[in-house]
Amino acid sequence: MKPKDYRSELEPVWCTACGAFGVLKAITQALTDLEVPPEKLAMVSGIGCTSRLPGYTNAYSFNSLHGRSLPIATGLKVARPDMRTLVVGGDGDGFSIGLGHIFHAAKRNVDLTYIVLDNGVYGLTKGQASPTTETKFKQRRGLAGPDEAPLNPVMLLLASGCGFVARGHAGNLPHLRTVIREAIQYPAFSFVHVLAGCVTYQKPEYADEIYHRCDVLPENFPNDDFIAASEAARGERFSLGVIYKKSPGEPLPDGSVTDDDDMGIWRGIQVS
Ligand code: SF4
Ligand code: MG
Repeated sequence: MKPKDYRSELEPVWCTACGAFGVLKAITQALTDLEVPPEKLAMVSGIGCTSRLPGYTNAYSFNSLHGRSLPIATGLKVARPDMRTLVVGGDGDGFSIGLGHIFHAAKRNVDLTYIVLDNGVYGLTKGQASPTTETKFKQRRGLAGPDEAPLNPVMLLLASGCGFVARGHAGNLPHLRTVIREAIQYPAFSFVHVLAGCVTYQKPEYADEIYHRCDVLPENFPNDDFIAASEAARGERFSLGVIYKKSPGEPLPDGSVTDDDDMGIWRGIQVS
């Protein structure tokens, strides 16, 4: 299998140079690396520009309801634990309409990989502010929506007890490929926050600024240390890499253990 073998016959209708092309490429590269058979691959999305991604992938695909990709994928994985199940979407779909599902997905810890392309704007519905829109960007563009401090998705997932939290940038493909690969390999719920540009509703200077606020974590970063992970998730700059990776079986920061045997499917122990 080559990356192009994981592409469907549909041609993407995204704007030229949309960050979603990078995410599609990195996912197909990671699947190639892992030699995942397409008949054992399921991709579920909600609604939005990024949510078109399953349709462009050679997999069992479900472009579902706005914000509801995680519960649908959870049901799929519980019924068919042999399927590698990827969930994809954007920041509006995941962090606004779908926000409530994230905590439960992390808590249930079913073996899903949730990849969110975050361009800080609603693309499909034409440029409203999303929960991750930075205030100065919103004010500069006059986007619809409240002037509120942006959500920090990595902090949110850490606080939810997610055992694998990573971040990449759609403009750094070799790095994103490795991050997504490691997330798919993780035998429980994993989350990848992907920063990306929207060429239609972001000014190039803004996308450029976000890109230059990224720092790739050093190879020896202690990503098994929750405190170090929380420090890396804070602040104005964006740490890229596997920020937190808890070994299955280790207690969560609140002291609870996630993977007792009798909760095998729910806790993500059954690895396809
Ligand atoms: Fe991509 Fe933005 Fe165009 Fe949507 S509107 S396809 S997010 S560039
Ligand atoms: Mg968006």
